[in-house]
Amino acid sequence: MDYDVLVVGGGPSGCATARDIAAEGFKVFVAEEHSVVGEPLQCSGFISSRALQLSRVSNRVILNELKGALVYAPDNRILNLVGERIYGVAIDRVAFDQELALQAEAAGAELHSSSRVVHLASIPGGIKARIQKGCSVSTEQEVSCRLVIGADGHSSLVAKWLGLPHPSQKVSIYSAEVELPSTNEQVVEIFLGQWFAPGWFAWVIPTRRGLARVGTGVTKQGAFSAGRPGCARQLFTSLVEAHPDIFKGLRVLKSTGGVLPIGLMAQSYGPHALLVGDAACHTKPISGGGLYLGLEAARLCAEAAVSSLKANDYSSKFLSRYQRDWEGKVGKEISCGFMHREVFLNMSDQEISNIITFLDTPHWRRLILKYADLDYHSILASKLALAPLWAQRFLINGLISFVNGYSRITGKSSKGTAPDGFVE
Ligand SMILES: Cc1cc2nc3c(=O)[nH]c(=O)nc-3n(C[C@H](O)[C@H](O)[C@H](O)COP(=O)(O)OP(=O)(O)OC[C@H]3O[C@@H](n4cnc5c(N)ncnc54)[C@H](O)[C@@H]3O)c2cc1C
Repeated sequence: MDYDVLVVGGGPSGCATARDIAAEGFKVFVAEEHSVVGEPLQCSGFISSRALQLSRVSNRVILNELKGALVYAPDNRILNLVGERIYGVAIDRVAFDQELALQAEAAGAELHSSSRVVHLASIPGGIKARIQKGCSVSTEQEVSCRLVIGADGHSSLVAKWLGLPHPSQKVSIYSAEVELPSTNEQVVEIFLGQWFAPGWFAWVIPTRRGLARVGTGVTKQGAFSAGRPGCARQLFTSLVEAHPDIFKGLRVLKSTGGVLPIGLMAQSYGPHALLVGDAACHTKPISGGGLYLGLEAARLCAEAAVSSLKANDYSSKFLSRYQRDWEGKVGKEISCGFMHREVFLNMSDQEISNIITFLDTPHWRRLILKYADLDYHSILASKLALAPLWAQRFLINGLISFVNGYSRITGKSSKGTAPDGFVE
């Protein structure tokens, strides 16, 4: 074999996995299709300090520290959730990815940019990959390895090759780096409403004075039931028009949208193969954040890969321990988030406004500020379930979605005709 491990994808999950495997002395090849790691930017770069620590990336990537959120209900009522502590940081995501790539290289992994894996095939004792270099079909390279790791994002070639099901939902996002004179530098702003974010939410994350990241998302299911366009870019315009005071003077500097996969993948391994990060749906179903879960899974993926290499056992049975490991660490959080998301999806704008009104008291605001955790939404959700109004919705819709929803958590895309213009 040319290499012990081929990692497909040089994003954060791929580089963190490659770093930890190479650090154990194994020969690792990372194939990244783009010419520059981290680009094009497809992220809003809002993470917890815990996630930053886990990545081992330096604090130099921090652009801003945020002390809470203003949540705008569909009826424009504002829930003020600004506290004293720092809930999350806005980072320079390109620099973050590049620092992780350097960590992988420093540990001994070979990082090959402009290298797109276009074909995989089983060979005795491993896998052979065909890699297209640059834009030219004529310059191809073949690499053989004992183990392939699919860290290749939401449309993972490795997952398709293994025949594993698609994520149950995909959120289509349009976001942008913008100039925004009225930005409140200390807080994130969250906007709820089917008019501009059916099945998802919209946000403003300030990065520096007068600069922010603004975005909105839409799911096929959300757009379908709200009868709204499925094109996130169109909905971004609706968002800006719906809040003229907030978005006064907005100027888009750079578009940074993309696709988020959501679901709990029932299988993230196969013979000689493991999946990690977005490729394995390691994302939070409520916020879509994928960096923390991807990095947690990367740690476990590297551990499983190293054990497999040491035991010289690449069977599905041996590698299935990885599934148990990551489900044990974050599986509950993902399925719990998915259930709460189903409750949210079943609510009308009026019901969401009612809940925001209900929560807008010193008692509930204090409770939210105390238990809010960017990486573990279930902690706060379990406290909010004590609210009578929320509990009613949760019990009724939660039970319905629990019965109906499990196939959607694990299976293929939910049924329903895609609305016109749905863009992934
Ligand atoms: C608009 C947007 C905003 C987001 N905001 C946040 C946020 O604020 N906080 C947060 O935590 N998360 C956020 N996320 C999610 C986060 O960006 C992802 O969860 C994270 O990037 C996943 O990392 P990854 O390494 O698994 O995949 P990716 O970052 O997608 O990396 C996959 C890599 O694989 C490469 N690749 C794909 N196919 C091939 C191939 N065949 N051959 C070679 N290379 C290949 C790609 O070029 C890419 O570099 C956001 C996502 C989007 C779309």
